Amino acid sequence: MAERSTGGGRPVPVPPDTASDRVILHVDMDAFFASVEVLDDPSLTGRPVIVGGRGARGVVAACTYEARMFGVHSAMPSTLARRLCPSAVFVDGRFHRYVEVSAKLHAQLTAVTPLVEGISLDEAFLDVTGARQLLGDGATIAGDIRSAVSGELGLSCSVGVGRSKFIAKLASKAAKPEAGREGIVPGRGVVVVPRGEELVFLHPLPVRALWGVGTVTGRKLDALGIATVGDMAALPDGALERYLGPAQGAHLAALCRADDPRPVVPEQAAKSVGHEETFATDIWDRGTLHGHLTRMVDASATQLRSAGRTARTITVKIKFSDFALVTRSHSMVTPVDATPAIGAVGAALLDSVELDRGVRLLGVSLSGFGPTSEGRQLRLDLDSDPRAGGCGPDREPGEGNHLALIDEEAERFQSSWGAVSAAVDAIRTRYGGSSVGPASLVTPDGLRVRRRGDAPWGPGGDPPSADTTRPGGR
Ligand SMILES: [Mg+2]
Repeated sequence: MAERSTGGGRPVPVPPDTASDRVILHVDMDAFFASVEVLDDPSLTGRPVIVGGRGARGVVAACTYEARMFGVHSAMPSTLARRLCPSAVFVDGRFHRYVEVSAKLHAQLTAVTPLVEGISLDEAFLDVTGARQLLGDGATIAGDIRSAVSGELGLSCSVGVGRSKFIAKLASKAAKPEAGREGIVPGRGVVVVPRGEELVFLHPLPVRALWGVGTVTGRKLDALGIATVGDMAALPDGALERYLGPAQGAHLAALCRADDPRPVVPEQAAKSVGHEETFATDIWDRGTLHGHLTRMVDASATQLRSAGRTARTITVKIKFSDFALVTRSHSMVTPVDATPAIGAVGAALLDSVELDRGVRLLGVSLSGFGPTSEGRQLRLDLDSDPRAGGCGPDREPGEGNHLALIDEEAERFQSSWGAVSAAVDAIRTRYGGSSVGPASLVTPDGLRVRRRGDAPWGPGGDPPSADTTRPGGR
């Protein structure tokens, strides 16, 4: 608790900040992935650029405002985006690059205050209540962040300032540039919603601006003739609860009053790392799937080690052509971080799934984190419980034994390959991600190393019609 000295020399306690005193910032990069692409390739400046999957199942991950003028937006199927904007330049995503830029952004934000809650790569909340004395009011801090982001990263962001996360988020949206048929209207950059003026700001907004109003709720509200947040706020007490159910009704009633006490919670450590991919065409061949799995394991294991972690649990996820989802998971007694150790378990899990339909999506994730492999405890056989490795409720009889053998194999790989994996990481850091990798990933074009999140929004490459011979279209 801070104390302030008065003229008389007697310290007077400063009252604690109450919720109504909070100053929250929401920082949101403008067209982030697409802007990074333009930054790295200035020939794209001023052009409609779409980052996303090019294949039949690809979706738009991000697009520049020039593309938005044509009605393109993120999460739209790429085929529709191409129809709306035939002149668009499609760019494959480079997730590792976005992660790199995001880390720089994050470093800038944590220099303002440690109270930074990252929401995604390009979005964060900051509680600057305690930083004001040093750095100025919310508007000043917001302006300084915009200048720093522009100066050091060469990118633009929009910042909302308000008394709660909810208001700050809506304010940053109001600060954004807008693209319409007539052109691009530059954004205000910073929008401050002063304390006490939340309802003036909030009530003219459409109900769909509120968190928790999706398609279904939006339609229900349309049917009731409720178009704006103000309409909603004017309803008698208890009406929203009756229309929408108690939980959602109460949630929205609170938001209409600008009531959102949620604190800014700094960095929560990730609970898993992984990689998954939707294929351009369904894959029937087990060998082809193993190839993709090896690549994903390589990417995920590298990420695990770079975070200085080991993992006990490995999960393989398969979505079939009929969208049926199967996950197989195995927890080991001894945590691992070597790529071949993780690969051995992943391969066994994949082999435990019957492939009677085409596979649409394959993924692998690592969880049950422990510290790095130095100081790793060797397994005591007395402690080994065959049930420790579970395959979930759908485990086959005899599978326990099979996976106990896998544990041993994984441990063998871990002890023989642990140092090699570390060396591979060092080489990649120095010479780039494609300099070294599993021999099974070498193609006539070189090494095809995946990084986590490469094109997570769908397959890139040519549309499947142009490449039907190779499953996966790669
Ligand atoms: Mg953004």
